[in-house]
Amino acid sequence: MSDTIERVKCLIIGSGPAGYTAAIYAARANMSPVLYQGTQPGGQLTTTNEVENFPGYPQGITGPEMMMELQAQAQRFEADIRDGWITKVDFSGDVHKVWVNDEKEIHCDTVIISTGASAKYLGLESEQKYLKLGGGVSACAVCDGFFYRNQEVVIVGAGDSACEEAHYLSKLCKKVTMLVRRDEFRASKIMAERVANTPNIDILFNTETDEVIGDGQVVTAVRVVNNKTNEKQEIPATGFFVAIGHKPNTDIFKDYIKLDETGYIINTPGTTKTNVPGVFVSGDAADHVYRQAITAAGTGCMAALDAERYLAAKEA
Ligand code: NDP
Repeated sequence: MSDTIERVKCLIIGSGPAGYTAAIYAARANMSPVLYQGTQPGGQLTTTNEVENFPGYPQGITGPEMMMELQAQAQRFEADIRDGWITKVDFSGDVHKVWVNDEKEIHCDTVIISTGASAKYLGLESEQKYLKLGGGVSACAVCDGFFYRNQEVVIVGAGDSACEEAHYLSKLCKKVTMLVRRDEFRASKIMAERVANTPNIDILFNTETDEVIGDGQVVTAVRVVNNKTNEKQEIPATGFFVAIGHKPNTDIFKDYIKLDETGYIINTPGTTKTNVPGVFVSGDAADHVYRQAITAAGTGCMAALDAERYLAAKEA
């Protein structure tokens, strides 16, 4: 353990659009923010090739480039961006304690949680291979669907997200094949019915992914297996979308911060306040509905403003 404890006015945990936007606003408000990037600097967007729906980039921009620009913008206002992983917190007192890499202890007046969520994947080797290559595997139809216009795609999942994404894809793609592992949807009835009533969505029940097939660069088909009959078939597809849920990165906060049953942080509606005064949340760690870079950035701005007002009220 380090014997020098650093004191910080505003600590931001996470380096996606939410964290960087919070850093830009907090730095411009003279809060001298310190931002810890975590193990995936730039967050989920660094796994996206092209971002075409973030306002202000008419030609589009790659996810990693956009994150570098956000980081540079935060640094321009002297936000202190650091490597490091927050391993432990103690939000039981007036001063919020945070540990970096199990070593360094920081005492914070305010904390902004922007740790995001991670999309779940099936874990198949072939899925991970084409995901890393940017060759046709995606966990975000809204981000990537556009690249598959007039093509045939496969989507796996049976919850509300999968239904919403399948429906979104059906408006862009020639054909969407949806793989449902049980004989029924998990999604709400209305969402499931919408999918069932869309002519270019083909639903295969009791069906799981056996292999994502490609030419070494891009996906060309998906081999699926019926888990009742063991019958296999190959479905031609250039895109493989995974919509089997997200896991918010909130485990280290669970002893102090109220989470919902799936681990998302519960904020006071219309604000970024958590149940702990001085601790705020922005981005996907509290959002299982919108999950967009622009909405994350919006709540990052809100969190910095909420933190600034909290400090002003405390100092008054
Ligand atoms: P869910 O956890 O609700 O659904 C995940 C789906 O993925 C389930 O159907 C599950 O199958 C399936 N699945 C999980 N693992 C695998 C696997 N290895 N292989 C195949 N299928 C798998 O996640 P969502 O992201 O859909 O939703 C999360 C929450 O957000 C829910 O509360 C949902 O209602 C809400 N939401 C609401 C929306 C809205 O109201 N507009 C839109 C999107 C989400 P199985 O059913 O067999 O377990």
